[in-house]
Amino acid sequence: MNYKKNDIYTINIENLGNNGEGIGRIDGYTLFVKDALPGDVIKARITKANKNYGYARVEEIITPSEDRTEPVCEQAARCGGCQIQTLSYEAQLEFKQRLVENNLKRIGKIENYHMNPIIGMEQPYNYRNKAQFPVGEDKDGNIKIGFYAGRTHSIIESDVCHIGIDENRNVVYLVKQHMQKYGIKAYNEQTGKGIVRHILIRKAFATGQIMVCIVINADNLPHHVQLTEELLKIQGMTSISLNINKEKGNVILGRKVINLYGDGYITDMIGDVKFRISPLAFYQVNPAQTNKLYSTALKYAGLTGNETVWDLYCGIGTISLFLAKNAKSVKGVEIIPQAIDNARDNAVINDIQNAEFFVGKAEEVLPAYYDEQKKNGIKATADVIVVDPPRKGCDMTLLDTIVNMTPKKVVYVSCDSATLARDAGYLEKHGYKVVEVQPVDMFPHTVHVEVVTCLQRVNS
Ligand code: SAH
Repeated sequence: MNYKKNDIYTINIENLGNNGEGIGRIDGYTLFVKDALPGDVIKARITKANKNYGYARVEEIITPSEDRTEPVCEQAARCGGCQIQTLSYEAQLEFKQRLVENNLKRIGKIENYHMNPIIGMEQPYNYRNKAQFPVGEDKDGNIKIGFYAGRTHSIIESDVCHIGIDENRNVVYLVKQHMQKYGIKAYNEQTGKGIVRHILIRKAFATGQIMVCIVINADNLPHHVQLTEELLKIQGMTSISLNINKEKGNVILGRKVINLYGDGYITDMIGDVKFRISPLAFYQVNPAQTNKLYSTALKYAGLTGNETVWDLYCGIGTISLFLAKNAKSVKGVEIIPQAIDNARDNAVINDIQNAEFFVGKAEEVLPAYYDEQKKNGIKATADVIVVDPPRKGCDMTLLDTIVNMTPKKVVYVSCDSATLARDAGYLEKHGYKVVEVQPVDMFPHTVHVEVVTCLQRVNS
């Protein structure tokens, strides 16, 4: 059978793919269908036909899935932020649980471990403490601020996001008004001209402090004093800054920050630890779930107060300081210098003296430390090593050094279960065993899932 674009078929959706797309089959030919859910019977229109599989969109839902629910957000189908808002929250959690299990088994060949049920949220809305609104213009030069449509850079105008905070709307309104009043152009990705690129907003949920950072393709924002005055009318406004990004491409933030108001950071709390957060530093986006995530990491570390701990990819030192109170010493490594500045300050403001922080790539800093010690005739060891890498996971040289340092435990915090499975599989081949896994739903309505994994050294 030859399938072609625009052909329409009636199919049952059987599975959900890793990106939230429905998967169905016509006589063994697989179709990936955006916005379709397992249990749906649909008429699918083929949008792209490859030899063995194709892509399609929903032409008509004939029988909706029992797990289908009305999305809270009007933009859910268009916005690239939430991929699975039409799936009931219960079914979302099941999907994520299965995703983690399957990846561990299929990619890492990992079995015989204790899998905990995913920790979900009671109220899975308004959980995000951070928003990054792209700023652009329509073809008539009208300013558009909103969200990127799925897998594109076209901006859907919208100032309400149901997974974000209410204050976002006001900030977006004030920035737009400022641009209109003073004729300030939005950045154009094609031409590289124009000024305002993004608005970054962060709120510290525990203290109510708000940070706004305007990303610009220029050295300054015209009339920023007036904008600062307006933004300060928003309750909780604590830090206002500009970020300079003159690079083409889709990296949101540049390296330079110009402070317009405040000390350059906001302060939040997770558990009883205080954290200063600056615009360039990474900070978990869902504070309620972060507490559960870090508590699980702490539990898996099994500290008694005598341990030497490394926290690799430590950001502003959140996990490091969470662990430091229960360990002999903690060393954190992070690539962003401003995050390490925050981490060092954070140790001081929490009166923690047994934490030390290093700027650099984990895969360079740890091997260099190990080699240096070796030169001095010392074999560097650790009791517990925590890693919390970005989606691409850990570098092999880092995993080798971890193995050489023979920690009793490796606590792997992951935001991508596929790379976690790959790395945990590697560690299982080198003397470690995955003993317990805890998925945490940090990102309701998206396909993303966070996982904490406890690996133990075998025969230790
Ligand atoms: N553990 C922290 C941060 C986790 S996010 C927290 O929970 O808040 C991953 C962090 O790794 C980011 O701060 C990112 O800047 C940093 N990072 C990315 N690549 C890195 C590398 N090669 N070496 C060290 N840090 C890196």
